[in-house]
Amino acid sequence: MNPALRDMALATKGFMPPDEGDTLHAAVLAACRRVPGGAIVEVGTYCGRSTLWLADAARTAGVIVYAVDHHRGSEENQVGWEWHDPELVDAHGRFDSLPEFRRTVARAGVSDVVRALVAESTEVAARWTLPIAACFIDGGHGREVARADYEAWAGLVSIGGSLIVHDVFADPKDGGQAPHDEIYLAALRSGRYEEISATGSLRVLQRLR
Ligand code: SAH
Ligand code: MG
Repeated sequence: MNPALRDMALATKGFMPPDEGDTLHAAVLAACRRVPGGAIVEVGTYCGRSTLWLADAARTAGVIVYAVDHHRGSEENQVGWEWHDPELVDAHGRFDSLPEFRRTVARAGVSDVVRALVAESTEVAARWTLPIAACFIDGGHGREVARADYEAWAGLVSIGGSLIVHDVFADPKDGGQAPHDEIYLAALRSGRYEEISATGSLRVLQRLR
């Protein structure tokens, strides 16, 4: 990982801890070696913090990161909620992380390898046609949204590629259960995926069949 890019990631608003970002980077690079030319997809970009680890892997692998986010925030990002950031609102007082994301991409100089897809995750997945080496899911954390993301993306990852899930908490004391139950467990139980590694709340899975 380019140290300057890593420093920029750490200085960017967002929710990716450094050790999990480093694991994400290594896992995505490994997946790109197993699926040459396969795309990197990020579901849930916010201000582009985790995107910068992905961008570095993309540059090394010679592929593109498709950063999917409607940029209207998850429930917990809305005005009055726990994870609301008053700096991220548009002229009408509505949550909007797209301007900050664009600043992150420009500042980090990664516009050659990062493409923003400003849309609902399932809508993008429904029209997806490229092979995917790695799909990182860190979008909405409600049960229905997490289940929809799993159903939309898990079948699109190429054999040998990785599904990487953030905010996976086995114990409800540590956090919400939707990514754990609806994405991580669902993938393992499907028999299509096996677990490769666990770092903090990050789980790296590999598609077997
Ligand atoms: N990966 C980021 C954090 C993402 S926060 C980081 O590490 O910093 C979750 C993001 O998912 C929010 O920006 C929200 O707008 C987006 N999101 C939630 N549900 C979505 C959906 N159904 N489609 C597209 N984006 C969604
Ligand atoms: Mg997260």
